[in-house]
Amino acid sequence: MKSMPVLFIGHGSPMNAIENNPFSAKWEQIAEHLPKPKAILAVSAHWFTPGTRVNDSPAPQMIYDMYGFPAELYRVAYPAPGAPETARLTRELIGGAARIDNSWGLDHGTWSVLRHVYPKADIPVFQLSVNRDATPAEHFALGSRLRALREQGVLIFASGNVVHNLAKVRWDMDGGFSWAEEFDRYIKQNIVNRDFDKVVRYKQAGESASMAFYTLDHFAPLLYALGATDEKDAVTVFSDVCVLGSLSMTSYLFEAPGGLDETTLPKEEQT
Ligand code: ZN
Repeated sequence: MKSMPVLFIGHGSPMNAIENNPFSAKWEQIAEHLPKPKAILAVSAHWFTPGTRVNDSPAPQMIYDMYGFPAELYRVAYPAPGAPETARLTRELIGGAARIDNSWGLDHGTWSVLRHVYPKADIPVFQLSVNRDATPAEHFALGSRLRALREQGVLIFASGNVVHNLAKVRWDMDGGFSWAEEFDRYIKQNIVNRDFDKVVRYKQAGESASMAFYTLDHFAPLLYALGATDEKDAVTVFSDVCVLGSLSMTSYLFEAPGGLDETTLPKEEQT
């Protein structure tokens, strides 16, 4: 079986779940490009836990983990089944202290994107938490343990934001602050060059790294995605912009070369 791709998506505002905008349009477009997975492993910024948790519920609950948004957003349902067997296999692959935890379900880091990518909600989805005790190198190492799942038809879908500083958000701003653009560019260059060590050691970016985020929750999913890639994977960068001053929407698709129709997802120009 051909290895399934790895996705990192900058999810941005929860409103992207219900808006038709360039981001949600791109997410819809991706589905046409991807092979249909047997299951989706979602690593969401919004499940940030002590230690590593895996959800093995056959029917994961909806989690509305956002506040002060229009009522319509709290009526979104994404009734995808879970993937109990694959979830347990994932726990084994991670080993150590990883544990099953069904107190959480599908949070908006997952459903705000997947309702556009797979609107029928007919592919089993299960979440893996972001271990808040882990260092960047440990997040990357955890991601590398997920790589074997790609051969089993599992799409690894990490959801966060490369730049995510809510304290600095400017709701009236279109682009990003210069430090946001600079950090996003640093990460992008090193991903495209497959110099992942410089992504893990993101503080080398300097001042911009200290502004990009204060906690690892939204950045760490990218490290899981990178860890799960193979050196032969081709990378496509998309939604390559900063918004609201301090959020980066930049997203990455990694896929094994050959076999996929590479004409359906246009490459974006680098900014
Ligand atoms: Zn978020």
